[in-house]
Amino acid sequence: MELASLTSSLLATLGVEKERFDGGELAVRSPIDGSLIGRVGATKRVATDAAIARAHDAFLAWRSVPAPRRGELVRRFGNLLRDHKTDLGTLVTIETGKIRQEGLGEVQEMIDICDFACGLSRQLYGLTIASERPGHRMMEQWHPAGVVGVVSAFNFPVAVWAWNAMLAWVCGDSVVWKPSERTPLTALACRALFERACRGMSEAPAGLLEVVTGGREHAATLADDERIAVFSATGSCSMGRALAPRVAARLARSILELGGNNAAIVCPSADLALAERAILFAAAGTAGQRCTTLRRLIVHESIADTLLERLRAAWRRIPVGSPLDASSLVGPLIDPTAGAAMDAALAEAKAAGGKVFGGQAVIVRGCEDACYRRPALVEMPAQSDIVRRETFAPILYAMRYASLDEAIALHNDVPQGLASSIFTRDLAEAEHFLSASGSDCGIANVNIGPSGAEIGGAFGGEKDTGGGRESGSDAWKGYMRRATCTINYSGTLPLAQGIRFGL
Ligand code: NAD
Repeated sequence: MELASLTSSLLATLGVEKERFDGGELAVRSPIDGSLIGRVGATKRVATDAAIARAHDAFLAWRSVPAPRRGELVRRFGNLLRDHKTDLGTLVTIETGKIRQEGLGEVQEMIDICDFACGLSRQLYGLTIASERPGHRMMEQWHPAGVVGVVSAFNFPVAVWAWNAMLAWVCGDSVVWKPSERTPLTALACRALFERACRGMSEAPAGLLEVVTGGREHAATLADDERIAVFSATGSCSMGRALAPRVAARLARSILELGGNNAAIVCPSADLALAERAILFAAAGTAGQRCTTLRRLIVHESIADTLLERLRAAWRRIPVGSPLDASSLVGPLIDPTAGAAMDAALAEAKAAGGKVFGGQAVIVRGCEDACYRRPALVEMPAQSDIVRRETFAPILYAMRYASLDEAIALHNDVPQGLASSIFTRDLAEAEHFLSASGSDCGIANVNIGPSGAEIGGAFGGEKDTGGGRESGSDAWKGYMRRATCTINYSGTLPLAQGIRFGL
């Protein structure tokens, strides 16, 4: 079946009306073969304004619904995702080009955050704090923050939105979502499923989820709007630099999940077979288009020749092809611009003394208008400028080190600080890497690659990655406001710090 009709039938199964993806001004192309799979309307400014107003009204009602009932809505949505895992997973594959396994994995991640958020809806705990004043009790309460604006990237078109939306909903917030202009169809599918989840639940007001489709100007509108209490944006560092000052200018809160430049240190004691498998998934998986993709390999000089030879042998065997084909491990890049950026990065690496292995264009039969590349492995003499930048493509730069201190310094000497890992069987090396003087990233792993995070932990990174945390642990606090409350039951009025004040 050609992709346009497959897309159309999946969208119908997921409950999206045809007029929503047919005839609009935004052309949606599948990276699999470059073909047109939909035409979505760009939300007009006045309609965006009305969507934010509806979301704000929804928040005013939703904030008073008991949190466990809010969790019930998320549970219903999670069940619909279970029912439609294959449909939505296939749509993710068609719209992003990630292989079927990863498309399904993305939907599973949404299901996981639904489960997490549902449990969380009974655990939005505040502390009770000992007061210095007799007959007083201090406590903190967590209240819904307001409307959460979510701006998302193409590479995880639905999971990252779900990390935000599920927490926002159980926390009593409403959501206005601006998906990537390259992946609006999966967003429309999520909205349709969510509308189904709301049916039959009388407490769920209209406007809990508003989707605005379009380009960067829509993201800027959300950043500027006073009614958006929390602005959560996922994408490139340049997007964060453009939008964070706008949110800061109105003194609102932002959660930023920006680019990464993730590394792995491979120590002399590492299990090389395990490291090889982990490096393959982390560097080549999702065609190098994960924020946590492994981009830099820092290998001890005593094992570098052996490991790099093993990796070249593996790189030679990586099956590149249509992501709908079960034997493919690497699908296409999102568009020709991404291919051109990969080519330019490889040329720059070569000019800086890099030895490039792989990286060639691949012509896939029937997909001649798409952009397929073999993953590249580049041995670099030093961590030059191109290595310090994130190129969103499957390029792994390898460098050698002599001492662990040198490796950690190299590791941290990039602007980004998202995910990191070390391969070692030496406990002292592992602990050093995880310590305050080790990796400076938000995610630090031992004997697994930097990509493939689970829902239970907080996800995010430091420095140019933006400092935001989403998903697990106490990331929910970013979607609520804290009130410190002091109750005086003493009948007298002792003042804090022993201050005497009275007539
Ligand atoms: P992108 O920055 O091009 O776009 C992301 C979103 O931001 C889109 O919705 C886009 O419309 C909007 N946008 C982009 N530039 C903007 C601007 N100047 N003003 C207003 N809005 C703007 O990113 P992408 O190509 O879709 O995704 C890849 C990037 O996202 C990579 O850098 C990757 O590392 C990052 N990413 C980060 C995480 C994370 O959790 N840290 C997760 C996924 C992707």
